[in-house]
Amino acid sequence: MPSVAILGAGMSGLAAAHSFQDAGYTVTLFEKSRGVGGRAATRKREGFIYDHGAQYVKEGTPASLALITERFRTPDLIDIKKPVWIFDGQGHIQAGDEKQNAEQKLNYRNGLTTLPKKMATGLSIQFETRIINVQQEASGWRLYDSAGYNYAGFDFLFITLPAPQARKLIQASQIETALQQEIIQRLTPASYNPLLSIILGYHPQPRTRPYYALVNSDKKHPISWLAWEHEKAPERVPPESGMLIAQMGPEYSAAHMETSDTECIQQVAQMIAQLLQEELLSPIFTDIQRWRYALPAQKVDGDALNAKTLPQRLAFSGDAFVGGRLHLAMEHGIMVAQQLISQQ
Ligand SMILES: Cc1cc2nc3c(=O)[nH]c(=O)nc-3n(C[C@H](O)[C@H](O)[C@H](O)COP(=O)(O)OP(=O)(O)OC[C@H]3O[C@@H](n4cnc5c(N)ncnc54)[C@H](O)[C@@H]3O)c2cc1C
Repeated sequence: MPSVAILGAGMSGLAAAHSFQDAGYTVTLFEKSRGVGGRAATRKREGFIYDHGAQYVKEGTPASLALITERFRTPDLIDIKKPVWIFDGQGHIQAGDEKQNAEQKLNYRNGLTTLPKKMATGLSIQFETRIINVQQEASGWRLYDSAGYNYAGFDFLFITLPAPQARKLIQASQIETALQQEIIQRLTPASYNPLLSIILGYHPQPRTRPYYALVNSDKKHPISWLAWEHEKAPERVPPESGMLIAQMGPEYSAAHMETSDTECIQQVAQMIAQLLQEELLSPIFTDIQRWRYALPAQKVDGDALNAKTLPQRLAFSGDAFVGGRLHLAMEHGIMVAQQLISQQ
């Protein structure tokens, strides 16, 4: 049976893992963190359940939608029914795009990580293992982790890290020089925007609105996204409480990556009150997540890159090649895995 090592157990890596497993490969995923999902991330704290990364999955192709609604379906799958409205730099709020709002916004009562956790069931995943370089040997790929261990004998290597991290890994690796240079050159233009997620729990619940979330349409407001997390499901918050999630735009996020939690939370809570023209009490719960690689600002050509690496039994997938959306990351993982499988 051919074996494949997949670096990263985010949505792209998990989707690819099932394509390989379906084709009879022995699959091992290596994940630096303690859990699966990558940027599809949920926290459960003090009675609140909140998605501090991606907010929901959009309908993708029929194939990726079927993964969510059929193959990996769980009973707590929900469609967020209320629409997303828009606001501009001046704080004017108005109804959003009808066509986009007609699409499903899929999530789970118990948090978005329900999906990656379900997909991870039965897969072999080496958690808390940060791969720092790889080596191409006659017998296959050997991986080295940050704790000094190595893992050898993989016929194929499948890398799903955000492109700047993938480039760093390749730079540190022992790969034939011309190929290494080619990969580095092709990954270099990729860039990601940082993003601060500010999470605010309230009691009582903030005022109910005709929308579930607001998105900044002209990119002129420091807040890029504001969501009423308790609209996803009542289980998300303690009784009579509510939760707002503000995702800050690239400029604010870059400028405040090192600002203290207290200062960021205070500033953002004031901005929210101003935008909503609503007097909000002091939050009873706060959290902050600083994403350094949140959403791709500049994508790169994955087809051109993989055309060079596939003959070496090496492939790259993830949102750097297709754009920052969960369904796109999954679809890309599946497509590239199938390319690797079909060339054998
Ligand atoms: C705040 C925020 C909001 C978003 N909102 C939405 C949304 O509402 N809808 C939507 O569709 N998309 C949204 N996105 C985008 C979406 O989350 C991503 O496009 C998608 O999760 C990318 O999946 P991926 O598998 O390509 O990468 P990742 O999820 O980043 O997975 C890569 C994995 O690799 C692991 N890893 C990294 N380095 C190493 C290493 N050296 N060794 C081992 N493992 C490693 C990481 O821990 C991670 O688990 C959002 C993203 C953010 C950050």
